[in-house]
Amino acid sequence: MSTHKNEVVLSELSVRQLRARRRRLVARLPDVGGYLAGSLVEQSRRCGKSGCRCAGGELHGPYVYLSVGRAAGRRSLFYVPQTLAALVRRRVALTASVQQLLADISAINLELLARRELE
Ligand SMILES: [Zn+2]
Repeated sequence: MSTHKNEVVLSELSVRQLRARRRRLVARLPDVGGYLAGSLVEQSRRCGKSGCRCAGGELHGPYVYLSVGRAAGRRSLFYVPQTLAALVRRRVALTASVQQLLADISAINLELLARRELE
């Protein structure tokens, strides 16, 4: 995604251009059935068994986790099995693109509202 495209100044566009831009954004919205909010993190772990190689610093992993926001800024980590890591990665990317598209649509609607052109 080019950053230039995001730097379009909405206030310089006509109402017609704003609505056309909004239609294009809506058309790009993917099927949201796979919406999965969170971010992927990789962590290496110590298993705790005495005598294991990890006790000497050679940790297990890295394992993939989905970091999910909870209330009051707290986050939870969900283990993602290796077999599902690619799928979850795609879902998280899809979710980020949906969030960006919705934010862009909202910005256009805010501009239309400011001009009393929100329908
Ligand atoms: Zn271990």
